[in-house]
Amino acid sequence: MIGRMRDVIVAANWKMHTTPADAGDLARTIGARTRVPGVVRVICPPFVCLAAVRDALAEDDPGVGVGAQNVHHELQGAYTGEVSAPMLAGLATWVIVGHSERRRDAGETDEIIARKLTRAFDAGLRPILCVGEQLAEREAGDQEDVVDRQLRGALAGHPSDVVRSTGLVIAYEPVWAIGTGRNASGRDAAAMTDAIRASLEGVGHSQADADATPVLYGGSVTSANIGEFLAEPSIDGALVGGASLKPDEMAGIVARAGVTAAARGMVERSAAERGAGE
Ligand code: PEP
Repeated sequence: MIGRMRDVIVAANWKMHTTPADAGDLARTIGARTRVPGVVRVICPPFVCLAAVRDALAEDDPGVGVGAQNVHHELQGAYTGEVSAPMLAGLATWVIVGHSERRRDAGETDEIIARKLTRAFDAGLRPILCVGEQLAEREAGDQEDVVDRQLRGALAGHPSDVVRSTGLVIAYEPVWAIGTGRNASGRDAAAMTDAIRASLEGVGHSQADADATPVLYGGSVTSANIGEFLAEPSIDGALVGGASLKPDEMAGIVARAGVTAAARGMVERSAAERGAGE
């Protein structure tokens, strides 16, 4: 790879689990068990738990990012039950966009997802954009076309300099692997990350920008299988659902991510950046 090595990122998607009463303790425990140099950690709790997680981490682990699991595509208005990007100010610095469970349950289209990205970019939230194919699409050999279409739709109208400056992260999450215990193979996931970077070039990003974009794998990641994904140089970490609620699992996943971060020289880099900021 040319230029600066990509961050190694482990992002936790707690989905609709935890309450404001227990989320802070869980975040504190996970933070303490995952202090591994060079790994970017992010916890995405439900909206109502964001403040508790933010406060718990601010005390003990300010290095852990806090993310929302969704953001509305409008700034304000008559959208009962929704949360806009400006409302997340001070609560979250990351946001998951286009998760397949929202595409499935909330009817999110690529066009809506593109508008959510606009809100995230404008609000300075770092987006984790999820893409991935259904089982039938993989069985038909259409996975690259599906993901290419999702990326084209989501990134339509977003200039590459904006995308670059906000640090877009892409999560390749084959839908058939999410919450099923059936993960993709490392090799297949790596082929998809290569296809994703090719798609980024296809929508007008330079090769250097595509190379610099972190791509995570998501779908039944555990401490037992994370090594298979991080053995692939094109994969930069994981978006973790079910296992992210278990401190032992998170400890194992982030420890393995630390091996990749060290191999990429991220440990020295983060120490140097901390030094420069002092
Ligand atoms: C997810 O929620 O993005 C996810 C990948 O879930 P799980 O790890 O449970 O498959």
